[in-house]
Amino acid sequence: MIETKLTVDTGFKLDNSYARLPKIFFKRQNPSEVPTPSLVALNSKLIKELGLNENLLKSADGIGIFAGNRLLEGSIPIAEAYAGHQFGYFTMLGDGRAVLLGEHVTSLGEKFDVQLKGAGRTPYSRGGDGKAALGPMLREYIISEAMNALGIPTTRSLAVVKTGEKVIREGEQIGAILTRVASSHIRVGTFQYAANWGTIEDIKVLADYTLERHFKVPSTIENKYLFLLKEVIKRQANLIAKWQLVGFIHGVMNTDNMAISGETIDYGPCAFMDAYDPSTVFSSIDVNGRYAYGNQPYIASWNLARFAETLIPLLHNSQEKAIKLAEKEVSNFPNLYHDKWFSGMKAKLGIFNEELEDANLIDSLLNIMEKYSADYTNTFRSLTLDDLEDIEMFNSKEFKKWNTLWVSRLERQEQTKIEIKELMKRSNPSIIPRNHRVEEALEGAIKQEDYSVMERFLDVLSRPYDYSKDQEEYSILPEVSNCKYRTYCGT
Ligand code: AMP
Ligand code: MG
Repeated sequence: MIETKLTVDTGFKLDNSYARLPKIFFKRQNPSEVPTPSLVALNSKLIKELGLNENLLKSADGIGIFAGNRLLEGSIPIAEAYAGHQFGYFTMLGDGRAVLLGEHVTSLGEKFDVQLKGAGRTPYSRGGDGKAALGPMLREYIISEAMNALGIPTTRSLAVVKTGEKVIREGEQIGAILTRVASSHIRVGTFQYAANWGTIEDIKVLADYTLERHFKVPSTIENKYLFLLKEVIKRQANLIAKWQLVGFIHGVMNTDNMAISGETIDYGPCAFMDAYDPSTVFSSIDVNGRYAYGNQPYIASWNLARFAETLIPLLHNSQEKAIKLAEKEVSNFPNLYHDKWFSGMKAKLGIFNEELEDANLIDSLLNIMEKYSADYTNTFRSLTLDDLEDIEMFNSKEFKKWNTLWVSRLERQEQTKIEIKELMKRSNPSIIPRNHRVEEALEGAIKQEDYSVMERFLDVLSRPYDYSKDQEEYSILPEVSNCKYRTYCGT
């Protein structure tokens, strides 16, 4: 039996505001008990940020919490209902293997969902076992923490425990649970669920709840639901621009995997692009390249149109006018996105001010990179370090011509060379979680039970803009190209 009260003070202060929403939005669901939990990853930095007690969380009590065997005081565990377009097809989903323990309220009054991913079957599990395997949970831990260090909004990873159970995927795998921390788990798909299976009142309750949790409505705002739409679009424009600027490919941008908060969520088959190519896809299930790198902004816009549709009944009494309002906002996304991306690209090239030719300068560099299959991260890293050797592209005529234009462009601004380099260092990560390094860390952990490779990797990834000596080896490309690298939802 799960012990419902934990008297030790872990530092968690739980609210359950989601469980106070109308009943259609969730089902009460305790995590399943697991036989022999053991802790394999614990995020000290996040523990501090949340004001939690690390020693207690490392103890048997803490491990019991992360395993779902012990319930935190004040927890009302639930599985959230949601729907979503998966590869374009609409379907009912919901937390099939995740349980929300509640919302931790920090001393500053900020609220964070604390969720166990892989906590067993729920009413939304359909045919699934509700469990998770160690590999994908560690992968999510590594990549989400790397994203956070890169300055990209994301859900966080607090801990991973092994459960002591085997899970059946392709063969037997080690069972695990990830404790995910997020500013909320409200998805575009949550609104789609409300719009399809709820009443207009349900959509309104969800929209009001979302506003309260994520967006402060200025007193001058007349139409708060239009404000909600605008803000969600803005946050997605910001998020996707940040993904594009570091070469992050999400892999499954289904509407259920798009968080209203603007955080990156659901690290399934995601990966970082190596050679620059907009058509890059890693996910084994994305056979048509729907979620290819270069498509991500278009897909975001498509998903936001689905979000806007759910708000139609709230935007205006006249449906016709509501549709017009929604269309206008969604059609704004490409500009918002492009502005963020463009200013980010300029920063990557050390450009402070604006000139008419900047767009061409950026485009022609990307074209040359594509032609020579230049590594995305390392190209910008080399430009930052003024280290233009060894890469085929840098010896090409096209690049030399481009470089002359770029150098003279940089001279036409008042900033010094040092200031320019500083801007470039802040804008171009020297390391990213490269696929072969992620695999190496996972292999150590899973096959050898050696977590030292992963821990060292996590440390290096926590300082992506450091350009320190100890990081250099992490920018070395694998001997055999990764371009056939495949990621699996094997989730
Ligand atoms: P994802 O591909 O992780 O975004 O998940 C899509 C849907 O499948 C969500 O509703 C998940 O909760 C559900 N799901 C994924 N894996 C499992 C599993 N092992 N058992 C039950 N449901 C799952
Ligand atoms: Mg998902």
